[in-house]
Amino acid sequence: MKIPFDIDLNNNVAVVTGAGGVLCSMFAKAIAQCGAKVALLDRNIENAQQYADDIVAEGLIAKAYKVDVLDKASLEQARVQINADLGSCDLLINGAGGNHPRATTTNEYYLEGDLDKDIATFFNLDPKGVEFVFNLNFLGTLIPSQVFAVDMLGKEDASIINISSMNAYTPLTKIPAYSGAKAAISNFTQWLAVHFSKTGIRVNAMAPGFFVTKQNHQLLYNDDGTPTPRTAKILDNTPMGRFGEEEELIGTLLFLLAKPASSFINGVVIPVDGGFSAYSGV
Ligand code: NAD
Repeated sequence: MKIPFDIDLNNNVAVVTGAGGVLCSMFAKAIAQCGAKVALLDRNIENAQQYADDIVAEGLIAKAYKVDVLDKASLEQARVQINADLGSCDLLINGAGGNHPRATTTNEYYLEGDLDKDIATFFNLDPKGVEFVFNLNFLGTLIPSQVFAVDMLGKEDASIINISSMNAYTPLTKIPAYSGAKAAISNFTQWLAVHFSKTGIRVNAMAPGFFVTKQNHQLLYNDDGTPTPRTAKILDNTPMGRFGEEEELIGTLLFLLAKPASSFINGVVIPVDGGFSAYSGV
């Protein structure tokens, strides 16, 4: 992977949650390339292990751990093991997150008669689905911060990065719970930055815009390669007129992580979105 600038994370231990996933496995790799020892945490240990093996195969240091970010005991166990294997945590990336179909409406707008149709409307959204999304994103950021920030207290270059989203600024249609939960992450980023400001731990977040990944490719492009209506809407509202490449998140991640680059930056959420959040649509 091409790292956009030189950041020395030697002697740092980084913990990445959601590292069995698309973006956070890439973050783990980039951080390892900068010299850190990386712990890849995920509920899906097979994926996390595969990504850790890939990193180790490049001569870098990584290990995978099975956790549930909502289960404090599993995180405590992982912390003990990470401390023994790699050392005490300096950097934490809270990447585990996502949406759930039961917290998603079928249509963008409520239209007369929708209540009589067999579709997901606002009225029959499942509170359990909404709870799942709030828990995963918000508590799934708060609880790992509780566990791993204990290691960071008293260090001068500790840093926590949370992952927010475009929908935190203005909610996206259909996904009220995911939008609200990501807004809560942006808010919590500010809260925790203030709370830890006397400790040396900085807390910041990134808000990725729209990226084409293996998972969402089918939503965004038809089989013949032409864009779906959703893609057209996204691109119309992205002043730069294109999707992001996943690796375009790396610069912001490393900049926020590394104290020499961002020592006086605390409590910010940086959009990486080709101008989407700046554009009113007119
Ligand atoms: P992904 O689904 O590929 O990865 C998420 C990972 O989190 C998975 O490996 C999953 O197993 C893990 N996970 C889920 N629940 C867990 C739990 N309870 N405990 C431990 N691990 C758990 O998602 P991604 O696209 O790589 O997204 C990573 C982060 O970036 C998420 O927070 C997501 O909301 C955010 N984000 C993604 C995009 C995008 O375009 N992909 C845009 C904005 C924000």
